[in-house]
Amino acid sequence: MRGEELVVNEALKVRALPEGSYDNLLEFLRLYRDAIQIIVDRIWGINEKLSKKKLHRLFYNDLVSMSFRAHHAKEIYINAKNLMESAKNNGGRKPVLRKLSARIDKYDYKLDLNNMTLTLKLHNDYEARLKLIASRERVEKFRSWSNYELVVKYEDGEFWVSIYFKRAVKPLEPRTVMAIDLNFGNVTLAIYTPDGRRLRLKKLNTPHKKILTHKIWIEKIQKRYPKSWRFIKNVRKAIERHGKRIKNISWDYAHRVGDLIAELALRYHSVVVLEDLEKLRENNKKSREFNKRLGLWFYRRIQFCIEYEAGERNLEVVKVNPRGTSSKCPRCGGKLVEYGYRVLRCRKCGFIGDRDVTATINIYKKYISKHSRCGVFGVAPNAPKPDEAPSGMRGKPG
Ligand SMILES: [Zn+2]
Repeated sequence: MRGEELVVNEALKVRALPEGSYDNLLEFLRLYRDAIQIIVDRIWGINEKLSKKKLHRLFYNDLVSMSFRAHHAKEIYINAKNLMESAKNNGGRKPVLRKLSARIDKYDYKLDLNNMTLTLKLHNDYEARLKLIASRERVEKFRSWSNYELVVKYEDGEFWVSIYFKRAVKPLEPRTVMAIDLNFGNVTLAIYTPDGRRLRLKKLNTPHKKILTHKIWIEKIQKRYPKSWRFIKNVRKAIERHGKRIKNISWDYAHRVGDLIAELALRYHSVVVLEDLEKLRENNKKSREFNKRLGLWFYRRIQFCIEYEAGERNLEVVKVNPRGTSSKCPRCGGKLVEYGYRVLRCRKCGFIGDRDVTATINIYKKYISKHSRCGVFGVAPNAPKPDEAPSGMRGKPG
């Protein structure tokens, strides 16, 4: 992993003002939407997996004869396929497109950050020139990045573009390992040296109680109006209000934690090690704790912010399989059983440790076993002492 390039992505979303008439641009967006709809309609009933090649064979010529450019055609059938798949995965109905929005390949636009203009290549060889409305400072950092796709949207009489940028960075050579254990009630992080000494330990409580309170409100309202809540305006509004609070609380928290963690990791030159959430679902690890009401989405949001903030600081992020991180003894590999509030004990060797701290040791060990090689991480790690929980931490409700 080390020495390899790290790719950081970010979108620049700005308002854009067309220079001159924008009839062609609007026509393009309508055509684009309708073309996606036609393809969605045609592939909705197809149950086999549609490869890019197959989509190309089925739709390319039609799209080009509708006066689209080659790369438009590709974007359109891929968009249609993604739309169909996500609708089916969510058990939903066939999507009906209303919004005017088009994804455009980098070959079909020209971006000039000096003059803040964007030229889009449309159907029929039309072009549209747009002025980007953004401050110099906001754009400055993207100058050294490379742009790839963009999305142009027409909404409430305004055009918006999101331009996607990426840049390759060489990650900082890590000197320590920061292992992060996400829980329902807290985020626990521990920084270890390559030979297993713990340098820092921190627990950050999550706002899960606040979130649950709003969830419970929503459920109460829905229970009171089981059939009609969707249709009574005030009821729906009340539900939306609680939903919005949940969204704000969780994003605020995720941003704060992401920033704090990345700052700490930068100070210690850490590689940031997280549990792979995709595998979490398979392993069904924390399922008991999962309490369907506060699910994976909350963990995802936190991880997203950690990864983003770490990327901003050129720090490497690695994900490990969470299997066994809170059920296996880090000293002997035996099975851990509960031994009081959030404390675990190994039946085999007598090891006793705080549940979350133990998880960080296991996460750390998973990273080291995969990534240690010559150099800094070549030393075989001793298992850190897990029972040295910091004072005042144990028993504190998450
Ligand atoms: Zn043991």
